[in-house]
Amino acid sequence: MPSKSIIIVGGGIAGLAAGCYGQMNGYRTQIFEMHYLPGGLCTAWERGPYVFDGCIHYLFGTGPGQPFHQVWAELGAVQGRRFIQHDELMRVVDPDGRTLIAYCDPDRLESHMKQLSPADGKLIEAMCQGIRQLRRFDMTLTQQKPKPLMTAQDWGAMGRQVLPFIAPMARWARISARDFAARFKDPFLRRAVAYMFSWPDIPMMVGLSLLAYMQNGNAGVPVGASLEFARAIERRYLELGGQIHYRSQVEKILVEDDPSGRGKRAVGVRLYDDSIHRADYVISAADGRGTIFDMLGGEFVDRYLKRTYDGHMPLHSQVQISLGVNRDLTGEPHWVTYLLNEPITIAGEDRYDIGVKNYCFDPSLAPPGKSAVIAMMTTHYGYWQRIYGRKLYDTEQTQVSDIIQDFLDKNIYPGISADTEVVDEATPLSYERYTGNWQGSSCGWLLTKQTMPTMIQGMRKTLPGLRNLYLAGQWVEPGGSVPVVAMSGRNAIHVICHQDGLPFVTTTP
Ligand SMILES: Cc1cc2nc3c(=O)[nH]c(=O)nc-3n(C[C@H](O)[C@H](O)[C@H](O)COP(=O)(O)OP(=O)(O)OC[C@H]3O[C@@H](n4cnc5c(N)ncnc54)[C@H](O)[C@@H]3O)c2cc1C
Repeated sequence: MPSKSIIIVGGGIAGLAAGCYGQMNGYRTQIFEMHYLPGGLCTAWERGPYVFDGCIHYLFGTGPGQPFHQVWAELGAVQGRRFIQHDELMRVVDPDGRTLIAYCDPDRLESHMKQLSPADGKLIEAMCQGIRQLRRFDMTLTQQKPKPLMTAQDWGAMGRQVLPFIAPMARWARISARDFAARFKDPFLRRAVAYMFSWPDIPMMVGLSLLAYMQNGNAGVPVGASLEFARAIERRYLELGGQIHYRSQVEKILVEDDPSGRGKRAVGVRLYDDSIHRADYVISAADGRGTIFDMLGGEFVDRYLKRTYDGHMPLHSQVQISLGVNRDLTGEPHWVTYLLNEPITIAGEDRYDIGVKNYCFDPSLAPPGKSAVIAMMTTHYGYWQRIYGRKLYDTEQTQVSDIIQDFLDKNIYPGISADTEVVDEATPLSYERYTGNWQGSSCGWLLTKQTMPTMIQGMRKTLPGLRNLYLAGQWVEPGGSVPVVAMSGRNAIHVICHQDGLPFVTTTP
C-alpha cells in the first residue's frame, strides 16, 4: 500500500517534531513554513558580530536518562551538543543591593534564604522540601501517550507513578509565586520571592520543578543558542526524507465532505501564492487562533473553542532589548531581575522590575572581550499594536532601548552606554510578524494557577466536525515550552498511526 501523506503547517519545534515522527513512521510529510528559517519562537538572530538568543533560558531534557531526553535523542537534537548547566536560575536584587539567589540546590537555597530571613524559616523549609520531592517527578507522565489512546491500564500505571507526588502537587500547583511571596515576613523576600522563577504568576509547582530539574542537570542551555538547536531538528527531518518549504504561508486549510457522510475532512492547504497541496492528513502546528478562525474560517468551533479564544485566557507578550557591548561581563551573574523603588515608565506602564541576562556563559554568542546582554519585560500587546506601522512605533522602540541603557548605565554597569555597539528591539509585533502567534505570545497560553489544571488535563487536539486535522504545539499545550511542543508533535503522529491501525515507531540516530 503506498504510504499516506501529511501536510504540516508551521516549522516551529512542534511542526519539525511532527515531521520527524511522521517520516519515522513511513508517512510522506511536507512542512509549509511562512518564515525562511526553522524553529519558530525557538530562535536567535545575528546582529553584527553578536548572536541574540530569543528563546531558551532552560531546556528540559538535557540530562541523559531523564524526562524528555529520549525525545531530543530521537530528534537528533542532543547528539554532539554541549549544554550549560547553571547552578542558579536567577538573582533578584533590590535597590539596596539585597540579593535573593535562586540556587537550584535546595540545601544551598535553604541556608541562603534563612540567612536573609531566619524568621521565615518554616516557609523556606517547606519550599526547599518541595524541590527535593519534585526531583523525581516526571513531567512527561501526562504526555507519554496521547490521551485519546490511553487505556484503563495506562491510566492505572500513570496514577501509580503520580501517587508519590500527589501531596507536593496538591500543595504547590494552585499557588502562584506571587501568592507564596505574600506569606513571607521579611519585606525583601515578600517582594523578591515573587520574581525568583521569572514571572510572579507562575504556579509554585512549576518553579520548584524547574529548580529540581536544574539540580538534576536536566534543564540546561544549549551552547550556540536556540536557532542552532532548532536547526539540528531540521537536519534530522531532512535526513529522514522530509520536505520543508520556506516562505510558504498557508492561507487556507482545504476541507471537503467526508465520504462517511458525517462532517468534513481536511484534504490539504492553499498557500498565499494560490498553489494547492493535497494530503491525507493536515497537522497545524501554527498559531491556534490563526488555524481555527483564519485558515479554517471559524467553521469548526463549538462553545468550548469560542470560550477558549474569547480573550479571557492569559497570554504572555514581551519586549526584548538586546545589546551588543564592547565589554567583557564574564563573571557577572547570568540572569538578574532588578527590583525598583521608583517606577520606570516603559511602553506606557510603570515598571518596578527589569530582567537582565548576560550571555557570557556561551562564548559563541559574542567575540572575545565583548558580551551579549538582553533585557526582557512583559508588555501589553495593544499598546504596540495601536502604534504599529507609524513612525511612533520606531520612536517608541528606540525610547525603550534608551531607557534600558540608561538604567543599566546608572545602576548596574556604569559607562555601559558608551560601550554599546549594537542595539536591537523586539516587541510583541515582531514575534507576531515572524511567527504568526496571536498577540506575539511567547508560550501560547501563559501557565498560571488558573491554566495549570488545563495543562494537566490536556486540551483537545481536534476540531468538532472535521476529520483528519490535528492540532499540535503551544496553543494546545498550555504553557508551551520547547520540549512539551516537541512531545505534542510526536503525539499527533502517534494518533494518526493509531487511526491507520499502524504501530507507532521511533528511531534514534
Ligand atoms: C522569549 C521566549 C523565551 C522562551 N523561553 C523558553 C525556555 O526557556 N524554555 C522553553 O522550553 N521554552 C521557552 N519558550 C517557549 C517556546 O519557545 C515555545 O513554547 C515553543 O517554541 C513553541 O513552539 P511551536 O512549534 O508550538 O510554535 P511556534 O514556535 O510559534 O511555531 C509555529 C510556526 O508556524 C509558522 N506559521 C504560523 N502561521 C503559519 C502559516 N499560516 N503558514 C505557514 N507557517 C506558519 C510560524 O512561522 C512558526 O515557525 C520561550 C519563548 C520565547 C518567545
